[in-house]
Amino acid sequence: MQFNQSTLGHSQDYKQYFRAGDIIFRESDSGKCAYIIKRGRVQISTEEGDDKVVLAELSEGELFGEMAVIDDSPRWATATALDDVVLIIITRDVFLNHLEGSESVVRMFLHTILARFKNVHAQLLGLGEQQHTWDIKNTGGRNNQTLDQSVQATVDALKFEQSLLKGMENEEFELYFQPVIDLRTDRIAGFESLIRWNHPRRGFVSPLDFIPMAEQNGLIVPLGQWVFEQSCKALKEFNQIQELQFLSINVSGRQFIDAGLHEKFIKFSSDLGLAPQKIKLEITESILMENPEESRKLLNRFGDHGFPIAIDDFGTGYSSLSYLNSFPISTMKIDRSFVSAMLKDKGSMNIVRGIAGLAHSLDMDIVAEGPETEEELKVLREIGCEYAQGYVISKPLPMKQAIEFIKDY
Ligand code: C2E
Ligand code: CA
Ligand code: CA
Repeated sequence: MQFNQSTLGHSQDYKQYFRAGDIIFRESDSGKCAYIIKRGRVQISTEEGDDKVVLAELSEGELFGEMAVIDDSPRWATATALDDVVLIIITRDVFLNHLEGSESVVRMFLHTILARFKNVHAQLLGLGEQQHTWDIKNTGGRNNQTLDQSVQATVDALKFEQSLLKGMENEEFELYFQPVIDLRTDRIAGFESLIRWNHPRRGFVSPLDFIPMAEQNGLIVPLGQWVFEQSCKALKEFNQIQELQFLSINVSGRQFIDAGLHEKFIKFSSDLGLAPQKIKLEITESILMENPEESRKLLNRFGDHGFPIAIDDFGTGYSSLSYLNSFPISTMKIDRSFVSAMLKDKGSMNIVRGIAGLAHSLDMDIVAEGPETEEELKVLREIGCEYAQGYVISKPLPMKQAIEFIKDY
């Protein structure tokens, strides 16, 4: 590998080195990255006529050059190394990736603060009010369309947050329960609770639409707590008719931000006299594998207190087998996409068989998701799946109908 030994110093991975006195960048250079100072000091200066005006002297841990990264405009000051310095580089691509993943309100704040700051800066330099671009995606000039879209996205996100909050206050949410059948005995094993939103204007809103939004703005924490509490109450009622093996509850990755989550779960369920062994927590494979080390720690906390854990949508999330073995998982839910394709497609059939074999060898039981025909059910039984949950048995049902289902089954 060759390092670029130009005036910019030489780079190695994400770091750059400069000697004392080196210019890191000059005013009006085009800039593609920001820097964090790992070692040494950096002077930021600007020129007024023939005079050099020192604006700041920065040291370890401080950030500079960020303006060019945010809006791709030329450098507005000169950065000089005061000592031999080591800098960590944050490229525009890396920054944009992070920004894309951030919330629209945060994005709008960032744009506004930047534009105002630049106007103040321009006025101080006697350049008068400047119009600065909001367009951080494109390198081209001002772009009102992007401004409109950015504002619109923010307004939409805030509106949505308000209606979600109002929905929680006005009890527009309801839990449905989908039966899970034990294929070995043909009896009801339990239910999975699935949230529904009856919006006064929009009508029925799918959880696939509002759960990701609630995860983004953090409202999933109170909403998830509500789901847990309602599910526990429902389990208690179900148990009075027939003792179930479990009730499954979906837990979103973002809910784990709440450090006291397991304590809240324990307290609520034990106050109702429910054994944690009956409350199965479903976590999707993709969430688990996003940060396996952290997931293991969190799951152990729940597992240690007796909550069984199911890995949801298995087959869609690129599991590392060594991690899979180290998580305290008792149930694997085979994703519906494989189950619904298995009779038409040999590959999918082999995947279902393969996942079943894998789960059993790891001492997990299996729930096959989404069988819609008797024939699929028969094959799942032959493969040795312990449980099935799909429309062929029942769609998710409101509480009253779920109780009827237990009584009639
Ligand atoms: P999921 O956890 O994989 O739930 C199973 C989904 O598959 C449910 O969709 C269910 O109605 C549907 N399903 C079950 N059997 C069949 C079938 O035979 N055919 C077809 N076509 N679909 C079937 P639903 O209720 O729309 O939920 C979608 C997703 O929203 C859930 O997927 C889950 O990821 C999420 N979700 C639902 N409720 C909650 C909740 O309380 N908390 C969290 N964090 N996520 C939830
Ligand atoms: Ca689930
Ligand atoms: Ca699933």
